[in-house]
This record gives sequence, C-alpha cells and structure tokens, in this order.
Amino acid sequence: MASQSSLPTGPDDRIEAGSARPDDDDTRSQAVRLRPALAALPRYIPGSGGTNPSVFKLSSNELPGPVLPAVTSALVDAVEEVNRYPQMYADRLTEAIGARHDVPAEQVLVGNGSVALIELLLRSVCTDGDEVVYPWRSFEAYPILVQVTGASSRQVPVRADGGHDLEAMAAALTERTRAVIICSPNNPTSTALSHRELSDFLARVPRDVMVILDEAYVDFVRQDDPIDSRALLPEYKNLVIVRTFSKAYGLAGLRVGYLLARRRLVAGLRAGATPFGVNGLAQMGALVALQLSDQVRDRVETVVAERDRVIRALREQGWELPEAQGNFYWLPVGEHAVALGDAAARAGVMVRPFAGDGVRVTIGEREANDIVIGLARHWVGRQRRQP
Ligand SMILES: *Cc1c(COP(=O)(O)O)cnc(C)c1O
Repeated sequence: MASQSSLPTGPDDRIEAGSARPDDDDTRSQAVRLRPALAALPRYIPGSGGTNPSVFKLSSNELPGPVLPAVTSALVDAVEEVNRYPQMYADRLTEAIGARHDVPAEQVLVGNGSVALIELLLRSVCTDGDEVVYPWRSFEAYPILVQVTGASSRQVPVRADGGHDLEAMAAALTERTRAVIICSPNNPTSTALSHRELSDFLARVPRDVMVILDEAYVDFVRQDDPIDSRALLPEYKNLVIVRTFSKAYGLAGLRVGYLLARRRLVAGLRAGATPFGVNGLAQMGALVALQLSDQVRDRVETVVAERDRVIRALREQGWELPEAQGNFYWLPVGEHAVALGDAAARAGVMVRPFAGDGVRVTIGEREANDIVIGLARHWVGRQRRQP
C-alpha cells in the first residue's frame, strides 16, 4: 500500500488543522473538498521493521530472500529500458499467466499488486450506498478499499477457529450487496476454506453479486479438498480470482498481481484500469519468476515444512491455534497482543500485533522462527479465544 500518513481527508485532518504554512491559511469554504467517503478512512498499518537489518521482519508475510538470481539479472537488464513505456496491458505476462491457468489471455488482467486490482474491482461495481460483505478479522486493506468507493462494509465475524462464517456471510447479503470478498487462506488467521465449502457458498450468492476470491496465499495450502478456483470459473460467472506475485513468488517489492474472470468482466475492468498500471520491471520480474516454477515450488515447500515445524512446537507448548495454511500463523492472545508484539521486538523479531485480538507471525528464517518459539513458551495460556 502507498503511504497513508499524509493524505488529507477532511477539514479536521492533521495537515490542515496543525499547519502554519502560508498556503494553508485559506478559509474552510475555499479549501478543496475531498469526497466524504475519504473522511475517517481506517489507516493501513504496514508491518514494521523494514529498515533495520539486525531485526527479523516477520510482520508482512513476505518470503525471506534472497531474490531468485535469474529474476535479479532479468531486472538488471530491464533497467536499460526504463526510458520507454512498458507494454500497456503487460501482454507477454498476461499471455504467460493465461497459459499457466489454461485460460485465454482475455480472461486475465494484471495489476499493480493485487490490492490495486481489488480496488479496481470494487470501484467498478460499488458506489454510494452499496454494501460489500467480507469476513472480519481479515485483510486490513479491505475496509479502506470499500470505503473509498462510498460503499459500506458488512463485516461478518470469523468463527472462533478463525475460519470464514459462510453461513452468516450468506445471511448478510442484501439487495444492496454488490460484492463479497473471500480470503482463503485468511489473513491474518491463516485458515483456508475447502473446495466444497466455497462451491456451496457460491451456489447461494446471486449471480449479479461479484465474488472476489483473494488467493494471495494459495500456494501454501496443504489441507484436504483444497480450493480449485480455476475449476469454478466456467460455472460461476460472477467469480473473480485474485492472485499475487508478492507472496510465494517473493516479489512483494515489485508490485504485481493478477485476476482471472470471465471475458466480459475483464474487458470492462480493463477499460477502467490505470493506463500503464504495471511498470516494466514488474512485468519482467513476474514473467521470469513464472518460468521458474521449480525453484518457486522448492521455496514454498521450505516455508510449508518450517510452518508445520513451528505449529507443532507451539502446540506442544500447549497453544491452541487455528490451522495455519498461509506462510504465517495466528496467535489469539486477545488483550495481550500489543505486549506480545513488544516482547518479540525486544527479542529481535518484528511481528504484527492487532490490538485486542491477536498477533500474526510470518514464517521466516529458521533462526527467526526459533526466537518466536522460545518467546511463545511464556505466553501460552494468555489466549482469549479457544479455537
Ligand atoms: C499480501 C496480501 C495481498 C497481496 O497484495 P499485493 O498488492 O499483491 O502485494 C493480497 N491479499 C491479501 C489477503 C494479502 O495478505
């Protein structure tokens, strides 16, 4: 996400209220008026720890480095071309993604990270007074992306085990619902839906309601009956599958994601997308990474094995944890979340506390994971919720 620190959102915002700069002395009636939907937007809090090389950053669900060497050298070569505009619609990458998923390129749209695509989707179907249904707690970006459109959020609490409450989500659909977001595995609880659960849910959603399936962590799923979203596309014409190169492919800094949907939808979305919305380096890096599926798979396997080791160790300590299917896990410590986050920081590991709720921890280098295991021993028993 872009920095959220300096966006003026209303007359009482810090910049206008607190500044004594000469260009800010206009009266309120003369000030530029931002749309009401921008006022009081929730802030996206990025995972901390990015700049200090002596701390382990387990706060943003990134893949530990290094970047795959073939990607690095392709990027270095591509730098020579940055005086030129990139391909407007990332044609080569779009073709390659289509081939990977066995869909025509007309069913693929590439974007500046999957967050930008979710934003495009929501602003393509929502306006003032509409509603978007999604689970909560889930990905922090959703409330922001919904609210900027003027629509309102219908947040459906996740179950005690961290999973989507699909029954309650189906019940939350109204005539004003324009979109539903499904996040599997769910950030931050890390639980995944089964194929059966998802297809039963899809059958209950009216076909004029867009279903956005955010599969940012799909590559890490190892449970029974995993979602085969591609197989659902032909039947559910309101389904949009959203994927990213930020997680399993380890390219979070390049900003590139994609969606798969029916042709008619993709054509409409493309018309409203930012021209040249994906930079040339991102297109090149993603294209190369896509061709390195063996190396990508090896890295994912390493993360999965490490995740299973960490979860086993924590359960042996007595933790009752949700099933972890992403490259991260959820410690449901309730009111102790911030204190646990602070303790981890003192131990040299940045994690992601959600005040009053729990702590999300990315699977990182073995040494970093071991620090968290060591720390966790002292915090077991402070769980508010039982899974
Ligand atoms: C990390 C993440 C993404 C990826 O966003 P990008 O913009 O592609 O980096 C999308 N959805 C969820 C739920 C995530 O956790």
